[in-house]
Amino acid sequence: MSSRINTRCSPGVKRVAIFGGTHGNEMSGITLVNMWIKNAAEIERNGLVTKPFITNPKAVEKCTRYIDTDLNRAFTLANISAPDVEGMPYEVQRAREINRMFGPKGTQDAYDVIFDLHNTTSNMGSTLILESSQDLFNLQMVHYIKKAMAPHTCSVLLNEHPQLKYSTTRSVAKHPIGVEVGPQPQGVLRSNVFESMRTILKQALDFIELFNSGEINES
Ligand SMILES: [Zn+2]
Repeated sequence: MSSRINTRCSPGVKRVAIFGGTHGNEMSGITLVNMWIKNAAEIERNGLVTKPFITNPKAVEKCTRYIDTDLNRAFTLANISAPDVEGMPYEVQRAREINRMFGPKGTQDAYDVIFDLHNTTSNMGSTLILESSQDLFNLQMVHYIKKAMAPHTCSVLLNEHPQLKYSTTRSVAKHPIGVEVGPQPQGVLRSNVFESMRTILKQALDFIELFNSGEINES
């Protein structure tokens, strides 16, 4: 089957961020992002700005999940819109900086796509985490990645609940997507987990390039 996606009426995807270190002891994303900060050739695609970024550098430095509070729960509207006061928890300060750089959350100025890279100690393999069943761009992207990863499995987890307000780091983007790969002990890098994550990102960026060209072939 071949399908053509009309992107003429939409602005397309221009800015993509890849976040590592939201949890400072999840080493695959941290290692990949640091590698891409040094040399971005692997993540460059036509017409796309791709920014690799360490979200919680203090936690990464200490190889701990977080310093004061979980960064991945810190992007509440209250946190990111409150006036600056002294003595805010470190991750709340970071959430505000990240929201200024990649958001503001919920606006047209926000980054188009944010991939947030996580590891888990549980044996869940490669999992893509979506926050909305209405995000047609993300649904197409995970479909493409799943097919491209075969025969390796790549699960998709829909974390959607009508009463749930997302305060994840990636929720700053128009199209947030979590990438969680395991099993990997915290503070440790396993080559197979690292390579799976690297391949997911390669496929995801290939998809975005194809999407922008208006040509997605499903065969
Ligand atoms: Zn994590």
